Amino acid sequence: MTIRFCPLGSGSSGNSFWVTGGGIELLVDCGLTARQIDQRLTEVGGALQNIDAIVCTHGHRDHILGTEVLSRKRGIHLWATPLAARFFSRKVPIEQIHHLELDAQTQIGGLTIETVQTQHDIPGSVALILRDGEVSLGIATDLGRVTPSIVAALSSLDGLILEMNHDEAMLERGPYPKRLKQRILSDYGHLSNTQAAHLLDQVLHPGLQHLALAHLSEKNNTPELAHGLAAEVLRRHASQAELWVCAPDRPGMPRTLRRLPTLSSAAR
Ligand SMILES: [Zn+2]
Ligand SMILES: [Zn+2]
Repeated sequence: MTIRFCPLGSGSSGNSFWVTGGGIELLVDCGLTARQIDQRLTEVGGALQNIDAIVCTHGHRDHILGTEVLSRKRGIHLWATPLAARFFSRKVPIEQIHHLELDAQTQIGGLTIETVQTQHDIPGSVALILRDGEVSLGIATDLGRVTPSIVAALSSLDGLILEMNHDEAMLERGPYPKRLKQRILSDYGHLSNTQAAHLLDQVLHPGLQHLALAHLSEKNNTPELAHGLAAEVLRRHASQAELWVCAPDRPGMPRTLRRLPTLSSAAR
């Protein structure tokens, strides 16, 4: 059992991830235009006609921009929490919309999707844990603040896509209007690099294979700052996880997660 995943783009302006596992292919969030998703998927060896489902974490534009077109014109079915699904109720045929229950599991093909409620300023926001048998991937962006249920959910994964939205000093000095700065810094906005590094420190374990930093602000962060802080946490824990940063304007390289033998079974 394996899960293969690839960011098609991730940043404050748009987010979409291609995930394969359990015999199906998903797009988690479609916050790029349908055309960009089509092009970037082709660039990394995928194809829209193979996509079985779209899973939506919440209704902000940077996560849903291309969803309506892909679902309506391509007939791809859509899964979202009941509150997030309301954004699509008049735009996508009702029979193509399915519900993800909050803090519960949903089966799509051979993949199990777990939702974990996030403290974000739009109703029905969730982080996702995707499992193919024992192999797991967490997708945790737009976290607002770290809650005990987020820490518990992210604690024993094989792969993690984690929000590192902003550097607090860059945001303070940066060009955003005061209200927007307050929103981002609030408990219902986004995690700073420091907050995300602290979360990583709590959830990091020897089995983590891949750590992808995501949803970086293009104006209030740099890949070097985010990478540096995460690398420091990995070093402290002597973690072997591969660390990389998702780009907003191009897809990443597809990575594969598989169940690694435990130390005791490897020694046999
Ligand atoms: Zn959001
Ligand atoms: Zn977002």
